[in-house]
Amino acid sequence: MAVLVTGGAGFIGSHLCDRLLADGHDVVCLDNFFTGSKENIRHLLPNPRFELVRHDIIRYVELEVSYVYNLACPASPVHYQHDAIRTVQANVLGVTNILELARRTGARILQASTSEVYGDPQVHPQTESYWGHVNPVGLRSCYDEGKRVAETLMMDYHRQHGVDTRIARIFNTYGPRMAPDDGRVVSTLIVQALRNELLTVFGKGSQTRSFCFVEDMVDGLISLMEIPNFHEPVNLGNPEECTIIELAEMIRSMVGTNTGIRFESLPVDDPIRRRPDITRAREVLGWEPYVRLEDGLRATIGYFEKVLRTSGAPAAEVLTPAAIEAAGKGSPQWLRARTTKSSVSNRIARSRRRDQLST
Ligand code: NAD
Ligand code: UDP
Repeated sequence: MAVLVTGGAGFIGSHLCDRLLADGHDVVCLDNFFTGSKENIRHLLPNPRFELVRHDIIRYVELEVSYVYNLACPASPVHYQHDAIRTVQANVLGVTNILELARRTGARILQASTSEVYGDPQVHPQTESYWGHVNPVGLRSCYDEGKRVAETLMMDYHRQHGVDTRIARIFNTYGPRMAPDDGRVVSTLIVQALRNELLTVFGKGSQTRSFCFVEDMVDGLISLMEIPNFHEPVNLGNPEECTIIELAEMIRSMVGTNTGIRFESLPVDDPIRRRPDITRAREVLGWEPYVRLEDGLRATIGYFEKVLRTSGAPAAEVLTPAAIEAAGKGSPQWLRARTTKSSVSNRIARSRRRDQLST
C-alpha cells in the first residue's frame, strides 16, 4: 500500500516511516522541515520504497495514496508559539488540504490530535467524552484550538463526504530523535543533565504529565489506522503519571550527575495534571503501552549522549560509568534489538485482539 506521512521527517513521523517501510508499505514522507530534520530520515533515502516531498500542507498537494497519517504540525510549545498564525493555518488550511486529498483519492486518513484539546483539564484522568477546558485566546490556543478545529474538520468530512477518518489524541510522547532544542521537558532535562547544567523546572514541578515511549505510540497509531469503521477520537498515551520534579530527579540519577535544579516561572495556561484514560484504546484497538519510563528514558539518554558527542558539545567529561553504560546501551543497534523483540510480540497480541474484535 502507498502511505503518506505528513510531518514524516519529525520525531514521531520518522519512527512511523521506519515502521511502515518495515511492514512492506511504500512510504511518501512529506515535510516542510520547520521542526523536522533530514537526519531523522537520512537512512531511509536509499530505500526505493521511500520518497521524500518537501512541501507545506498549507498549500494543496496532489498525491495518489491509500493511507494518510497527518502529523504535519509543530508540537512543542516553543515551536508552535514561534509563528502562532502558521500553527493555526497548518491545522485549518493544512488539514482541509489533506482531507481534500483523502476525499479525492478515497484514502483513509488519521489525524495526529493531542491531549491539548483537553486544555488544563478539570476531569482527571482524561476520557474522550470530556470536552476540555481550553483558553481560546491564550498563547497555547493556536495549537489547542487549532487541533480542536482539525478534529471538527475530520468529523465533518466524515459525516458530509464519507471520508474514512481516524483521530488519535496523542499524550506526551518522547524518545530518540526529539530535537535537542525543542524545549520539551524530556529532551531539555536530558540535554541539561548530560551537559551538567542546571535543570530547568517550571513552577514547583508539581504539575504532572504521563510519558509514552515513541515505539508504543507508533504501535498505537498503526493499530488505530488498521481498525475498521472507528471515527471517534481515541486517547493514545501511557497512563503512568509523574510530577515534573520526579522526572527531573529520575533523569539526574540515570545520567549520574548531581547538578542542581533551577526553578523558573510556570508558563501561562500550563496544564496542572494530565493523564490519559486509555480504556477505549484497550477495548477498541487492543492496544496499551509496554515500555516503562525508566527503559524509555535510558534509550533516549543514550540517543542524546550520542548527538551531543557528535556535535562536539561537552558531554563525555560529565558522564559517570553508569551514564556511559546507559549511553552504550542506547546505541541504535541495542535499541533496534530490544524494540524489535518487544514490538513484534506486542503487535502479534494486538493483531489477535483486532481479529477477535472484527469477527
Ligand atoms: P515534530 O515537530 O518533531 O514533527 C512535526 C513535523 O511536521 C516536523 O517534521 C515539521 O517539519 C513538520 N511540519 C510542521 N508544519 C508543517 C507544515 N505546515 N507542512 C509540512 N510539514 C510540517 O513533532 P512530533 O512530536 O513528531 O509531533 C508529530 C505530531 O504529533 C504533531 O501533529 C503533534 O501535534 C502531534 N503530537 C505530538 C505529541 C508529542 O508529545 N510528541 C503530543 C501530542 C500530539
Ligand atoms: N517543563 C519544565 N521545564 C522545561 C520544559 C518544560 O518544567 O524545561 C514543564 C512544562 O511547564 C510542563 C511540562 O514540563 O508543565 C511538560 O512540558 P512540555 O513542553 O514537554 O509539554 P506540554 O506542556 O505540551 O505537555
